[in-house]
Amino acid sequence: MMAQEQIWERGDEWYRYALALEASLEGFWDWDLVAGRLWGSHRWQSITGLNGPCSDVNSWMERVHPHDKPRFEAELRALRAGKAKAIHNEHRIRHRDGQWRWVLARGVAAEDAAGRVTHVAGSLSDNTDRRTADALTGLPNRFFFVEHLERRIERGRLRGDWNFAVLAVALDRFERVNETLGSGGGDRLLMETALRLQQMLPAPSMAARVNGAEFLVCLEPVSSESEAVRFASEAAEAFREAFVWRGHRVTPQLAAGIAMGAAEYAHPEDLMGDAESALANAHCQEPPGTVCYSSGMRERALEKLEMEADLDRAIREGELTMFYQPEVDLRTNRIIGFEALVRWRHARKGLLPPAEFIPLAEETGLILPLGDWGMAEACRQLVEWRSSGKPEMQGTRISVNLSARQFEQPDLVERVEQVLKETRLDAGSLRLEVTESCLIPDAVDTLKTMRQLGELGVGLHMDDFGMGYSSLHYLQRYPFDTLKIDRSFVQGIATDPDSRRIVQSILELARSLGVDVVAEGIEDRAQLAELKSLGCPCGQGYLFARPMEPPAVHALVESGGWQPALA
Ligand code: C2E
Ligand code: MG
Ligand code: MG
Repeated sequence: MMAQEQIWERGDEWYRYALALEASLEGFWDWDLVAGRLWGSHRWQSITGLNGPCSDVNSWMERVHPHDKPRFEAELRALRAGKAKAIHNEHRIRHRDGQWRWVLARGVAAEDAAGRVTHVAGSLSDNTDRRTADALTGLPNRFFFVEHLERRIERGRLRGDWNFAVLAVALDRFERVNETLGSGGGDRLLMETALRLQQMLPAPSMAARVNGAEFLVCLEPVSSESEAVRFASEAAEAFREAFVWRGHRVTPQLAAGIAMGAAEYAHPEDLMGDAESALANAHCQEPPGTVCYSSGMRERALEKLEMEADLDRAIREGELTMFYQPEVDLRTNRIIGFEALVRWRHARKGLLPPAEFIPLAEETGLILPLGDWGMAEACRQLVEWRSSGKPEMQGTRISVNLSARQFEQPDLVERVEQVLKETRLDAGSLRLEVTESCLIPDAVDTLKTMRQLGELGVGLHMDDFGMGYSSLHYLQRYPFDTLKIDRSFVQGIATDPDSRRIVQSILELARSLGVDVVAEGIEDRAQLAELKSLGCPCGQGYLFARPMEPPAVHALVESGGWQPALA
């Protein structure tokens, strides 16, 4: 070995190049077209997995992925024919170890004095990490996962070993969390998720981040579905711990879809697709959970896609309609307001209740145009009723349900103001109903939005009170002016002492906090009598009226309501 000073003293250009070549992470190659030989540097050999500095170009081409080969060969041909001056081609190459690697080949042509191309030479770099890793979390990406699964399925076929499962795992309602934390916080949460998942995985399993907040896991060894479910439950458990970012606190929830490896699966995409269909179902559970793929799920997922397109059109073409259910003052039996409840007049399926399309609208974001339309329609309707001059309609109010996604819009307050302005309804006549699931615990923005709505004069109802885990906490923390006792408590009030006691406590609590109460779902006289005896001020339910179309409401008011029948 020559000392470094001597090298520089000698000024030997070639020696310098040789050293730089050795030190470089790039491989170098030179294809001598006259001799028909290919030379490759050490690094080139280690990237391609070919042994020895000299070989023929075919041994290189044989390793190129069949999908990428035609293009690469065509570019080399163009170089040789003098039709291209340089090439820049990214392709996959099968290494000696059997793995596919991504490489970037650069090359130029060298001509002799007569202008004939005699050499094609260039560099080769290993891009595998960049191409196969997710830049944010460092986990493998979808592409790499597909390859891994391809090999795993191949092994299953050769050895009859199907002891693996694919899990599609995602943070539930990540968009919401992202909006709360800001994108920096969202990124951190994804990194943390990747870390937690990886720490839990038994070898030789693999986790990849495939898009947004979705991860795919190839879990093995796993011999039964229940084992895979257990892993998913443990993962979900590990996520119960709150994630805190710059004072914002969220408790992410994990949903998981499972598809077990099986001989029917020829392509990785089928297995991944089934796990993802199961995941879509898991997201619909409340709280989100784990779902194993079963036949028919994919068909249902397609049906859902169709329904989404249908709903999008329905919103734009006016197929949605508002029904109204009276809210009644139980002391006077008079209507004090109406709750607007959306319906979809579906051309084929008939009149659809909200349960059949609101969850889909929430999932797809269609709830935003739906909600905008609904609020404007309900306000417009109340103004129209009032303009009919009926004295009963003058003091009434309208309640509109809000979904979580609507509630988190940063411009919700401006949107409400705009609707009030356009429909010329006074803010005091509008009530917004939110359920516990709309509220992100302790989020500063939630409180701010509620305060601003309150300042505007809009009423805030806490819907389905008592159903969630934190109803009391929310009632104390946020400026609600009314709570609506969930139907499930009202249902048993006349027959079940526990339900009665709960309703009684809710009423006492409401009185001490100075908030109003509406009991939901009153269906019979016995329930009404109990509520009255407990001093419940207001109610709503089939006993008085089912949700009705506007002409029916008008007719009801015209006829003087249900008095004296219920008096
Ligand atoms: P909610 O806000 O708690 O509405 C009350 C639900 O109870 C309504 O169901 C109503 O029809 C039903 N109900 C009323 N009285 C009785 C009764 O005596 N017995 C029984 N069994 N049920 C009664 P609906 O219309 O199917 O709405 C279901 C839910 O869908 C609503 O629950 C609300 O959360 C949501 N929703 C309805 N319309 C909208 C909307 O425009 N936007 C949003 N975001 N959600 C809506
Ligand atoms: Mg409601
Ligand atoms: Mg309710």
